[in-house]
Amino acid sequence: MSEGAAKKEERRKFQAIKGTRDLLPPETALWNRVEQTAHEVFATYGYGEIRTPIFEQTELFARAVGGETDIVSKEMYSFEDYGTDEIPELLEQRTVLLTWQVPPLGTQVFEPFIIHSLNFCKLAASTFNARQIPGSPENQRALQDISAMVEKLKIVYSQGAEESAPVVAQIKERVREVKLGDELSLRPEATASVCRAYVEHGMQQLPQPVKLYCIGPMFRRERPQKGRYRQFHQIDAEVLEVVRREASEHDWEKEVRKDAAIDAEVIEMLMTFFAKLELAGTTLYIHSIGHNGPDCRRAYIGKLYNELLKIKGKLGADSQRRIATNPLRVLDSKLESEQSYIEKLPHMADYLCPSCAAHYASLKRELDLRGVKYDENWRLVRGLDYYMRTTFEITAKGLGSQNAVCGGGRYDGLVELLGGPPTKGIGFAIGEDRLILSLLESGKAPAQQGRDVYIAWMGERANATAIRAAKDLRKAGFSVELPPVEQKFGKALGQADKLGAKYALILGDNEVSSGDWTLKTLADGSQAKFKERDLLEHLRKQRALSS
Ligand code: AMP
Repeated sequence: MSEGAAKKEERRKFQAIKGTRDLLPPETALWNRVEQTAHEVFATYGYGEIRTPIFEQTELFARAVGGETDIVSKEMYSFEDYGTDEIPELLEQRTVLLTWQVPPLGTQVFEPFIIHSLNFCKLAASTFNARQIPGSPENQRALQDISAMVEKLKIVYSQGAEESAPVVAQIKERVREVKLGDELSLRPEATASVCRAYVEHGMQQLPQPVKLYCIGPMFRRERPQKGRYRQFHQIDAEVLEVVRREASEHDWEKEVRKDAAIDAEVIEMLMTFFAKLELAGTTLYIHSIGHNGPDCRRAYIGKLYNELLKIKGKLGADSQRRIATNPLRVLDSKLESEQSYIEKLPHMADYLCPSCAAHYASLKRELDLRGVKYDENWRLVRGLDYYMRTTFEITAKGLGSQNAVCGGGRYDGLVELLGGPPTKGIGFAIGEDRLILSLLESGKAPAQQGRDVYIAWMGERANATAIRAAKDLRKAGFSVELPPVEQKFGKALGQADKLGAKYALILGDNEVSSGDWTLKTLADGSQAKFKERDLLEHLRKQRALSS
């Protein structure tokens, strides 16, 4: 490879990681408009913005989202986080062990490995006790195993070196499994973090319900495709309300009506937001998946399971697997050949308990009252474990197979699952990337932001005047390009054109001496002279006329 080619290769090396992407202008102007609209619309419904960290304990997501879900079982970006200042020796011992190579036959000496292994166990035990590394049962077991294996290695080695290498491999394997720090994960969704923050900051003491929203990146190791990324962005909103006392027989109906009204208002806000953005072709699907009781969803799942077993042979491999792991997810299937069978399966609506049925009826009434149009979709089961009763999804145009632009639902009980007090919750997550894609597809692309004024200046005196003029114009809110060095007027005007400037302000020594500045309108090439004080007024008037 020539030197030039090698350099080129070297330069090409860095690219955005698969499933991530750069958001560039002018598209970022649309992102800002979307987020600004969210701030404005959500504020009118009394929501406050919350910003949580983008990583949390893995356990938080495992508990909230569900250990069996795809998200937690295979899509999270997880890592071990340890303070290198606290355990430098232990880290060093681990590196020595993991990089230790079995010496070639004939020169096999295992004493150093045995000594390092013993050191590792001793140091790990003392750092456990000092709580510098997690003293989890898994870690305790791993350490006991390593100690036992080292004893075995001593014996095997004393009988001849040949059999020792496999024991070394086993020890290394187990050492790798000792967690030297907290297990953390990049957040795959926001609800768990918001619930954690609600409890951590005692928000149950605030007037209830507490309405929060957050905007930011989420991370899931999914197969990238149009509308599906590994780093994507969500706009989330959550309504949380601590349960002060259990609803009595007498007032459960009132309670159900109140919850349904809250759900409906959340959905109304969402649809108002989409309408304000003029998002095209939205459809709101709603459903109730009941609650996790034997007289409600559990009864339905039992029935569904039995019916699925009857048609198992007609289903594809994915659905067959889901019959055992999560029968509800079979309803999600998009596989053409299964559809006619799935369509005949029983509906959750026929199995709702009286209070879930009342809640669902109330929700529909509340949506009608608010003029929110919806379609009922009995196959809408959301992927996350924590939902109950209301679930909803919104699709939009121009997104192909990944056409869900928002999903949400009620999750009473989630906060309690995370160690908080009994709390009701409902929320949604808008896929911002897909929202933007849909807006772009329907022709809402923002134009490249052109400059208002390009200052074409030449000469020492004109430089000082140009700097002052740029400052004054910018202060008045105009976008100004001030070339850092003087340019011939022809070149400057060409540059102004390329940047899409509306005007070129021409400042040469003549203009500075006479105080008559030349303003050229680039669209039609017309020119006019202005005194400095009149120029700003003229531009302001023009701006008002064109807006
Ligand atoms: P979920 O958190 O799975 O309920 O998803 C809520 C919304 O986030 C979906 O309706 C999508 O619009 C969006 N979303 C989820 N996963 C991705 C992804 N990998 N890439 C882009 N958007 C996503």
